[in-house]
Amino acid sequence: MRKKGIKHRVVIHNEIQAAADLLKKKQLVAFPTETVYGLGAIIWEEEAVGQIFSVKGRPPDNPLIAHIGNLDEVHLLAKNIPPVFWKLVDRFFPGPLSIVLPKKKSVPYIATGGLDSVAIRMPSNLIAQQLIRACGAPLVAPSANLSGKPSPVTAEQVADDFGEKIAYILDGGKVDYGIESTVISLCSTQGPSLLRPGNITKEEIEAVMGTSLGSPQKEAPPASPGMKYRHYAPCGKVFFFETTEELKQHLLKNPKINRLILGDPLPLNAKTLYLSLRQADKQMCEEICVYINQATRCDQALMNRLSRIILD
Ligand code: AMP
Ligand code: MG
Repeated sequence: MRKKGIKHRVVIHNEIQAAADLLKKKQLVAFPTETVYGLGAIIWEEEAVGQIFSVKGRPPDNPLIAHIGNLDEVHLLAKNIPPVFWKLVDRFFPGPLSIVLPKKKSVPYIATGGLDSVAIRMPSNLIAQQLIRACGAPLVAPSANLSGKPSPVTAEQVADDFGEKIAYILDGGKVDYGIESTVISLCSTQGPSLLRPGNITKEEIEAVMGTSLGSPQKEAPPASPGMKYRHYAPCGKVFFFETTEELKQHLLKNPKINRLILGDPLPLNAKTLYLSLRQADKQMCEEICVYINQATRCDQALMNRLSRIILD
């Protein structure tokens, strides 16, 4: 088991094999992906999948994404696959795009939050790819954080949340993107829809599909259950400002408070958002002041994650 405070080191092949062996023994292993660190279990191991929900404190109706190591695995997970899925695969797999399809009967409901669909993604991170291939099975892997906390972008942050509650953490250093994958659904009778914005934009996906992506319908159960929960929350109180003047006035009211200011003078950035929120917790900031400029307002993924901070 990797302990807190161990510096980043190169992951060697033996270590990936050892991690895969733990997964095969129904244990939980955290690993890097290009988006954020994931907490993995083999999708067919229902007991281990259940453990993911309990160690994270994740509501059972919040479905998990199945991470695949090769395209054959799509057929183990999904049925009624529309041709446009393969067009998207050609362009965006491996990478930060998750696609929801009708699930095969064999996919356990515990992994899909009780839904008849399954989200599929092929990560591009090499450690993630090698781990999935060493398991010979898809891995469900939600972000490796306690539910409600910012997603982890380093192995140390995973250790901060879980300590010895999970079997192993593969340390791949800091991740590339720093926010979770874009999620789209090809399942709805209303047509394809964007469930969660991410680094791959709506416009890029639409250009490949040749049709537009809708917004999810307000239906029961919700199209993307995870989006109704509050996420990414640091311990301190968060304030948002639309002008630097408002921010300045706020700071003048109570200049001595232990606070972190985001978005001024440097603009906010999806890659460093979670890192900054976690730093605020480490420094025991009482408040976090976030200035949202015009560029930030146009960044769908960033605005989506910021809106989750205040959702209750
Ligand atoms: P996380 O793994 O924490 O990034 O969360 C995955 C998110 O993907 C969930 O919270 C859902 O919003 C979405 N998702 C996963 N599977 C499905 C599915 N079958 N249908 C709709 N949304 C899904
Ligand atoms: Mg998450």
